[in-house]
Amino acid sequence: MSRRLIIGGNWKMYKTPSEAAATAKSLKVKLINVENVDVVVCPTAIDILAVREIVAGTNIKIGGQNMYYQDEGAFTGEISADMLKDAGCDYVVVGHSERRHVFGETDDEINKKIVKALSKGLVPIFCVGEKLEERNAGKTEDVVGGQLKEGLAGIEINSAEKLVIAYEPVWAIGTGVTASPEQAEEVHRFIRKFLTDIYGNALAQQIRIQYGGSVKPANADELLGQPNIDGALVGGASLDPDSFTAIIKSAQSV
Ligand code: PEP
Repeated sequence: MSRRLIIGGNWKMYKTPSEAAATAKSLKVKLINVENVDVVVCPTAIDILAVREIVAGTNIKIGGQNMYYQDEGAFTGEISADMLKDAGCDYVVVGHSERRHVFGETDDEINKKIVKALSKGLVPIFCVGEKLEERNAGKTEDVVGGQLKEGLAGIEINSAEKLVIAYEPVWAIGTGVTASPEQAEEVHRFIRKFLTDIYGNALAQQIRIQYGGSVKPANADELLGQPNIDGALVGGASLDPDSFTAIIKSAQSV
């Protein structure tokens, strides 16, 4: 596998179904037959079916923003892996910092979600990242290493296509403050080494590690040009089809 970048668009809790459909229509036109980069849009759950209908037959894939680790049951408000899969998702974001820090999701729950996603054929986009005070205290590697250790506990994979990691420093998400390419690359190198220790060099080299945190067209080239940055998870800038497309074009050109 050559270094094929992956660009994900996390639409968070933005866009009604009709707004999501309009965005998807625009992306479909702009990204018709997009090649050499994997593109994933992650609409809010209620928008997934509308988006699926529009991007059918294109190279744009769909991801859920979250899922629960049980198959079914009395879990009001939750969505299962089977539901996402049946609705047309190939990916699911797991452990986003907003899930961790707004909704109190734990490493153990995240691990269960990754296990379930993999068992159902969904590719988890597993998010890790430190808070500002943790970075300032020199604890970035401890925090990110701990999240990786707990999140990937007991997880075997035999193909790099089955797992995506997203490094998203909490202080850079939705703040307009981006990690410098050097800061991001340093942590991505650490994550690569961590993956090498558990999955071996060949697999670790091929697992995509996305950077997320205020990625926009103006900084995408520099970030995506770093050797261990294999893609981006884009929040705010993915809401606008023009800026999301510009980031994808950057990925195609680095
Ligand atoms: C995100 O939602 O994962 C994200 C990185 O958001 P933003 O690009 O807006 O910082």
